[in-house]
Amino acid sequence: MRVLYPGSFDPLTNGHLDLIERGSDLFGEVVVAVLRNNEKVATFSIEKRVDQIRKSTLHVPNVEIVSFEGLTVDCAERENCSLILRGLRALSDFEYELQLAHTNRSLAINTETVFLATKAHHSFLSSSVIKEVAKFGGTIDHMVPKIVAKDLKLLFNK
Ligand code: ADP
Repeated sequence: MRVLYPGSFDPLTNGHLDLIERGSDLFGEVVVAVLRNNEKVATFSIEKRVDQIRKSTLHVPNVEIVSFEGLTVDCAERENCSLILRGLRALSDFEYELQLAHTNRSLAINTETVFLATKAHHSFLSSSVIKEVAKFGGTIDHMVPKIVAKDLKLLFNK
């Protein structure tokens, strides 16, 4: 099966990467869909985020990376995915994710959202917190793939 894993990935964390690896194991094919959000100022350009994901997933079979704007369900249809994969880190993610899943189902009746619980040791990872740590020179090497750690250090001159 082919599953769409949408997100901002600004930048990719080890938690995201774990979901991609498990998604590939469970479903066979994972399309990572990187959101080009014009409302939000991204830290990394869309090209950079796609490149970070590509370089970090070379060891994972059957991964495709695309960028998209607009509705996730439209991207899922274009990419021929009837499943949308999302991660749940904690209860705080749940309400928003449930709302998104209901919204997406109301827009596209045949699209199912599947949730994977984050591994416990990744459950504290978030792109925004990692950027804060990197900005102040904290160690991030255990939180993100190598290429992302390198890009964050360059970005913040650390
Ligand atoms: P969005 O802006 O859509 O929330 P993110 O890039 O923050 O995009 O996250 C994309 C998906 O990855 C979401 O389903 C989110 O719950 C999941 N995710 C985020 N952080 C982690 C993590 N540490 N472990 C597993 N999944 C995560």
